[in-house]
Amino acid sequence: MKRRTEKKLQIRKVYGKYAAGAVFLAGLLCLTGCGGRVQRYDSLDTAMGTVIRQSIYSGEDITAQVQEIIRSLEESELSWRLADTEIAKINAASGSGEAVLVSEKLYKDLTILLEVSQKSGGAFDFTVGPVVQLWNIDEWAAGEQVSGKQAAGEQVSGKQAAGEQAEAVIPDKEEIARALQYTGYEKVLLEDGGVTLLEGMSLDLGAVGKGLACDRIAALLEEKEVYGAVISVGGSILTYGKKPDGTPWQVGIINPENTSSMIGILSLEGQWCVSTSGDYERYVIVDGVKYHHILNPATGYPADSGIRSVTVFCKSGVLSDALSTACFVLGVEEGMELAKSYGAEVLFVDEEGMITMTDGMKDIFKETGEN
Ligand code: AMP
Ligand code: MG
Repeated sequence: MKRRTEKKLQIRKVYGKYAAGAVFLAGLLCLTGCGGRVQRYDSLDTAMGTVIRQSIYSGEDITAQVQEIIRSLEESELSWRLADTEIAKINAASGSGEAVLVSEKLYKDLTILLEVSQKSGGAFDFTVGPVVQLWNIDEWAAGEQVSGKQAAGEQVSGKQAAGEQAEAVIPDKEEIARALQYTGYEKVLLEDGGVTLLEGMSLDLGAVGKGLACDRIAALLEEKEVYGAVISVGGSILTYGKKPDGTPWQVGIINPENTSSMIGILSLEGQWCVSTSGDYERYVIVDGVKYHHILNPATGYPADSGIRSVTVFCKSGVLSDALSTACFVLGVEEGMELAKSYGAEVLFVDEEGMITMTDGMKDIFKETGEN
């Protein structure tokens, strides 16, 4: 049963001013037809080491509350560097034989992620941290900054430049083999609200933090009865509710070959999360060889499935973000099957510039620009 459409990727003109893994193209500031007090509130900021861009149509300005949700997610739940987060406590207890009890929300997310790890055959693996740290991948992005110009809303980019400039030492095979001994999702025990790790192991939610943030933000938007919103947290974008002019939300997909242009636009109505994983987001070039940040947990080396980027959309942010990473590692055939098993839609751009996508993606995808 074929559910795929292939198109030749063409370099498109720059569409809109914003660049991230995927981007959103906000509507006009005009609020005709919104009815009453609804106004548009915009904000551009940084958190979670990435750029947060918000356009929210609502009766009150909740952009600061959205920022706070992201900050708190990072500082009390996810970061493995800060000693007091839930993840850091789990990691610190590895090898003790003691289960670390975590919040209900985080436990639910970890359960979902363990299932994605299993269903993807380990292509997504939230225990890959020791290898990520060996490669020093977080440092590759450390130079990422929002310049004054970007903060003013002109453009958001810089990941690629940071990747090119970073100093990198490629680990040798023995080091990678050693680090791999401390990975393996199948060794993680999730039971009765607690997490138990074996000695030397750690959880790293770097691949899904932004999608998780989208889920938490969606809950706030619901609680606040927001009319409509589109919010990007790095490579994950949340659309919510309606645009006052009745047109769909528009989310652009970056051309991996030329990251200042788009390959096309997704038109989305209502609540969705769109996540993109791309080899252009963080990388280093050493002796002419490009090393990107998405690892194949089976080898400990950057995934080489022939894919340049994967975009996934579905209702859940944690899933769209985990699946985009998993599909990048799996490649087109297996990635498509995995995404379909979750009812998610997926679009691949391969090294030849070919686009392959599911039918549901095809329904909302439109190529942009001129040849
Ligand atoms: P993303 O850009 O969402 O695909 O996430 C990539 C980030 O997740 C990397 O910077 C690593 O921190 C981590 N990572 C890399 N490879 C994997 C993998 N196969 N499974 C889970 N996390 C990964
Ligand atoms: Mg991801």
